[in-house]
Amino acid sequence: MAGGWSRDGAVQDQIDDTVSDAVAAARSRLPRGESAEYCDICGEDIPEKRRLAVPGVRTCVECQSGRDSAVRHSSYNRRGSKDSQLR
Ligand SMILES: [Zn+2]
Repeated sequence: MAGGWSRDGAVQDQIDDTVSDAVAAARSRLPRGESAEYCDICGEDIPEKRRLAVPGVRTCVECQSGRDSAVRHSSYNRRGSKDSQLR
């Protein structure tokens, strides 16, 4: 009786592992967080079309493009390293 009980427990563990793996896989496919109603940066309304088109969006188009170009140019990093070299 005791042996049968422990075998059931092992099978249940395997099932739990499989289920949690499937849940984790399904979650990783979903967008992270909900789309914001208002831009995180300037507070402007984010159009519903944009929120649907970009799941998990946090900023309006203008702030998003501003952030993108800031990352591309990375002027902050360059300025910072020049300052530290002068000192
Ligand atoms: Zn904005």
